[in-house]
Amino acid sequence: MDLSDKLTVLSGIGEVVARNFATLGINNIEELLTYFPRKYNDFSHVVPINKTKPGPVTIKAKITNARSRRARHGLNITEGIASDETGSIYLVWFNQPYRASSVKEDAEYYISGEFGLHHKRMSMINPSVEMVSSFPINTARIVPVYKETKGLSSLQIRRAIKPALAYLRLINESLPKWMLDEYKLMPVIQSIETMHFPISNEELYEAKHRIAFEEVFDLSLAALMNKNELLSEKALSIKFSEKLAKQFVNNLPFKLTSEQKIVAWQILQDIEKTVPMNRLLEGDVGTGKTVVATMAAHMTMNEDLQVALMAPTELLARQHADTIHKILKPFKLDHKVGLLIGSHKFAQKTQVIEKLNSGEIGFIIGTHSLIQEKVSLKKLGLIVIDEQHRFGVKQRQALMLKAGHMPHLLSMTATPIPRSLQLTLYGDLDISVIRKKPYTDLAVKTKIITLNKRTELYESLINILKIKKQIFIVCPLISDSDNMPFRSTEKVFNELSKGVYKDFNVGILHSKLKTEDKEKVMKDFVARKIDVLVATTIIEVGVNIPNASVMIIESAERFGLAQAHQLRGRVGRNHEQGYCYLLLDDNNQPSSRLRALETTSDGFKLAELDLKIRGPGVIYGVTQHGHDGLDLKVAKLTDQDLIIEARRAATEFIDKKENLLQYVQLNKRVERIRSVTNLN
Ligand code: ADP
Ligand code: MG
Repeated sequence: MDLSDKLTVLSGIGEVVARNFATLGINNIEELLTYFPRKYNDFSHVVPINKTKPGPVTIKAKITNARSRRARHGLNITEGIASDETGSIYLVWFNQPYRASSVKEDAEYYISGEFGLHHKRMSMINPSVEMVSSFPINTARIVPVYKETKGLSSLQIRRAIKPALAYLRLINESLPKWMLDEYKLMPVIQSIETMHFPISNEELYEAKHRIAFEEVFDLSLAALMNKNELLSEKALSIKFSEKLAKQFVNNLPFKLTSEQKIVAWQILQDIEKTVPMNRLLEGDVGTGKTVVATMAAHMTMNEDLQVALMAPTELLARQHADTIHKILKPFKLDHKVGLLIGSHKFAQKTQVIEKLNSGEIGFIIGTHSLIQEKVSLKKLGLIVIDEQHRFGVKQRQALMLKAGHMPHLLSMTATPIPRSLQLTLYGDLDISVIRKKPYTDLAVKTKIITLNKRTELYESLINILKIKKQIFIVCPLISDSDNMPFRSTEKVFNELSKGVYKDFNVGILHSKLKTEDKEKVMKDFVARKIDVLVATTIIEVGVNIPNASVMIIESAERFGLAQAHQLRGRVGRNHEQGYCYLLLDDNNQPSSRLRALETTSDGFKLAELDLKIRGPGVIYGVTQHGHDGLDLKVAKLTDQDLIIEARRAATEFIDKKENLLQYVQLNKRVERIRSVTNLN
């Protein structure tokens, strides 16, 4: 008997059913036991028939006169009469003919279900029926309801789990005894059993709390361990020079905002230490993060160390290179700035790489090429990663490997990280935030457009094009796909370039185009040779096109709030009013989350809402298929109290110098999380 036993060891589960379970990601007993219900129906109150009231109810009765008949439209109706000492009631089932033959007249049953009117008689409709026993699973209890799949109902899942409970005793307690006591947590075995077959709502609450606590504890512990490990690493100190800092600031064409000064100071202090910095700089699009990063780079280059900035797209890398060139010009450091991107010719790349290796380039900006190319970054003092949530830890690791030592790391993101994530998934990072933009942007005016108003909208925007303003249109798909009814770039491009915008230049941009073509389209758009650009989210981050004043988001319900917010941040820059239109694929009411985009321009609020609705994966940029170790089955990252407690427990665990290896299950999970989140 082992927790890794295949499901087929359970009675009643053959290969076919086991395969159905596999589609739910359940391949062995352990996975079955930790497949928790998605909700519960409370049928725990057993009442005499004469005391029944509308709503969910359970009676304990004998069933007579059960018979099945064919009704109109091929419908099968099974009826019966349930009786106890206090009275009788009708039972009705639709399309469950087996009910008639399976009831035994002399047996006593629990019958759970809801009341409804059938042929003007109060009846129980489609009730669950189960012979009276001391451990019912479908009736007369708080009944677990599972996420089902084809060929596998909640009923079958319950039937499989009941015998699997015999394996529970093989599960080791994964949390230390002192933690269970101090935080009043239910032991693991009892929690798992209760999750499936709770005795009371109070007990269920405790079980959920225990499981959720452990999930958040695991994340927090992994983060703290990552952090501790980093503390034992050594980085090169980048001496702070006040003179240099002043020079830098004085040579900018603008004054730094007070927030920019604060975060710059935090970063400069960090990189002076020999402990590697691991800081996340968070600020909405346009809050001026690049200047701050460049200030740290300037300091680094002055110590004769190198800086690498990695951006998610070539466009962005180019734009960064341009900006940074300009900023560093007054210091005659601009010639030390290099760009390394995939689309550069071989000779050009070779030259850049040589200059990097000789130290002639002090600040290299690039894309994934920084990892792919054979560059040596032996004098690397600082890594800056733009839009960090788009990168896997693996890529960051690769960059560090090139250095052969641990450089300071500054990640930048325009996606606000809700506090709960700061304490858990991002718990190993120090965080700096810029909330205010250097100039007050007019909030982008945002409006939801239903299908029947789409044409009207397109037509009205001709006026915008006539005054030489530009329009972005973002679609969720590149080309039409059979199983996705959403608007694609190709469809919208064809429709508009031949239709309403035939007198204007319409361009198309997506990841399947050749790099040269992508570059050309983007250049043409910047040069205003293209009026309307139909694109995928490829344009999401960073690109600066001040003349674009309208952002249309097609099939808007398909986008995350944070993502849509970033997209609209592309327009209405430089004091101009921007407009964003969220297009629906039908005439139905928009979801409340889409409405939130209409009414709020606060990126932080929207990120919180996204977290609540779509979960942390969306923000962290990881998959949600349970393979990444970051999946939460029970915990809600919106539960602040839980997060604070679990985080405190993780701190205590480390302070007590607990040996993680002693807790096999815990160790396994924490290692899995760290394989996704650890920098080292
Ligand atoms: P982010 O990377 O945060 O989206 P950028 O660093 O690209 O923002 O800055 C956006 C624009 O604002 C740039 O054109 C930059 O030169 C400008 N900028 C940055 N800081 C200031 C400031 N303090 N005052 C005025 N303009 C600024
Ligand atoms: Mg930026």
